[in-house]
Amino acid sequence: MLFMDTTVKNQLSEIQCEALLATFGERLQRSVSLGRFTAARIGGAADWLIAVESTDKLAETVTQLWGLEIPFRVLGSGSNVLVSDAGVREVVLLNKAQQIRFDLESSPPSAWAESGANFGLLARQAASRGLSGLEWAAGVPGTVGGAVYGNAGAHGSDVAATLQAAEILLRSTDGIQRQHWPAEHFEFSYRASQIKRVRQDAVILSAQFRFQLGNPEAIKAQMDEYNAYRRRTQPPGASMGSIFKNPPGDYAGRLIEAAGLKGTCLGGAEISLVHANFFVNSEGATASDVIQLIQLAQRTVAEKFGVELELEIELIGDDV
Ligand SMILES: Cc1cc2nc3c(=O)[nH]c(=O)nc-3n(C[C@H](O)[C@H](O)[C@H](O)COP(=O)(O)OP(=O)(O)OC[C@H]3O[C@@H](n4cnc5c(N)ncnc54)[C@H](O)[C@@H]3O)c2cc1C
Repeated sequence: MLFMDTTVKNQLSEIQCEALLATFGERLQRSVSLGRFTAARIGGAADWLIAVESTDKLAETVTQLWGLEIPFRVLGSGSNVLVSDAGVREVVLLNKAQQIRFDLESSPPSAWAESGANFGLLARQAASRGLSGLEWAAGVPGTVGGAVYGNAGAHGSDVAATLQAAEILLRSTDGIQRQHWPAEHFEFSYRASQIKRVRQDAVILSAQFRFQLGNPEAIKAQMDEYNAYRRRTQPPGASMGSIFKNPPGDYAGRLIEAAGLKGTCLGGAEISLVHANFFVNSEGATASDVIQLIQLAQRTVAEKFGVELELEIELIGDDV
């Protein structure tokens, strides 16, 4: 069982559905196929979806859902999740809060971005202003919120190295509060933050990144080099990026390749011939196809090398 166990009832009760309709009215979308909101283009439908266009609206909507005791999941760009074929019973909040503001007068210069802003776009906008620090992020898909949640990283850097602070909406025994978290509060580790590890009732509303002033041409040249490397070493097409975390001192892709699994296809999903830690939706793949490939890779690598591959992506939704 990898997705949520459906022997437990995940469906919202009739009373919860009525409360949702009464509270959100026309903002509420029903039976929305999530495939188009994910980078892998895979997944069943969300029973309920609400799009939020600003940080304030995100905070207000989350507060209302907590008040109604209705479970929800924030979805950024869906570039680090596999949505099950059976879809999602909790309310999906599609984060479209996308404002970005730069402060070139502050010391150090900084940028504030709403959590639904595109992280790569933020990096490119910083570069065009001669701000160095996020060159590594130009080719990382996803939103600012998703990047902070999972401590996104590449080319030897990560969010932990560049984040100054973030605004969080937190529910605790003290009630619901908007809190300013300095970066240390997130206790970042490899592809994880305190919020991801503990799965506490917290939503990232916005984030502030710090930069150094640099030479715009040199920053752009560095970004171009990173992007060219990405194009050389990663497959094009719909995927979730790296499926597994790299085990200490090794690479998941190297292990899967050494296990002889590169190019293995199951249904419409394929272990990429370019990079074995990328599973590509080559032709109408289902979540179940990907899950079978995941299990095959985990089993084979464990048998051959005694290494347990741990998922980097998150599985969302109900089991079949
Ligand atoms: C082709 C490709 C290449 C990639 N390369 C890299 C790479 O080099 N480095 C890297 O680190 N990752 C990489 N990834 C993975 C992905 O880009 C990152 O994990 C990204 O940060 C996810 O952001 P997202 O908005 O898509 O998050 P989603 O996939 O939408 O969500 C991921 C998780 O974050 C939670 N979340 C999202 N927003 C919020 C919020 N505001 N508050 C609280 N929780 C939130 C979601 O609920 C979910 O649990 C790659 C993915 C692809 C498809």
